[in-house]
Amino acid sequence: DPQQTWTAVDGYFNGLLVEEDAALLAAVAASEAAGLPPHQVAPNQGKLLSLLARVHGARRILEIGTLGGYSTIWLARALPEGGHLVTLEADERCAVVATRNLERAGLAGVVEVRTGPALETLPQLEAEGAEPFDLVFIDADKPGNPAYLEWALRLTRPGSLIIGDNVVRDGAVTDELSTDPRVQGVRRFTERLGAHPRLTATAVQTVGEKGYDGFVLALVTG
Ligand code: SAM
Repeated sequence: DPQQTWTAVDGYFNGLLVEEDAALLAAVAASEAAGLPPHQVAPNQGKLLSLLARVHGARRILEIGTLGGYSTIWLARALPEGGHLVTLEADERCAVVATRNLERAGLAGVVEVRTGPALETLPQLEAEGAEPFDLVFIDADKPGNPAYLEWALRLTRPGSLIIGDNVVRDGAVTDELSTDPRVQGVRRFTERLGAHPRLTATAVQTVGEKGYDGFVLALVTG
């Protein structure tokens, strides 16, 4: 069973390289206890996000799709002193759980959770004249991805990084006739990434405890 192998290999590397401290473990436990779906990134993926943010020197991070704030904790911990993270979540219940998880992690002063559909909160950010974000993590409803990419471009600057999760979907991304709106969402998203004059991007397939999926990484070039 390949899944068993993937999970065991994640376990091996995580045991040596990726430490989930009490706040991260509590965030997962509290999310589960509140009945939230277990759709947070895996620990090694959270660490990858955090390493990318650090390598990039990100001071301002935007996350679309908070759930219980697990990836938010990884990203927020990568910020330097004075850094700021805004995370957008449509579901009030998720936002409440995430806020509590972030408080427990000591990140209440660094992270702002905004509740409401991202297509309402993103224009609000722009209207407020938010400074450009250095890194955007797109991880909400996948049909929304093409629109979230447009918003990410409006809210970033040349040199910013855009990361999109769950773009492989067990390989379904290659099915142009798929009737799954999530698959069509990531296909339109990928097409726009490829065609956009201000972006250069790549996509990487991943296997692990969360199954077979992958992410895209895009740099805003102009
Ligand atoms: N980034 C989280 C992590 O790794 O810990 C996981 C996010 S989960 C995959 C997707 C989240 O997006 C869910 O909590 C869902 O409620 C939220 N969501 C769905 N539609 C949304 C929308 N239109 N605007 C904002 N958030 C939305």
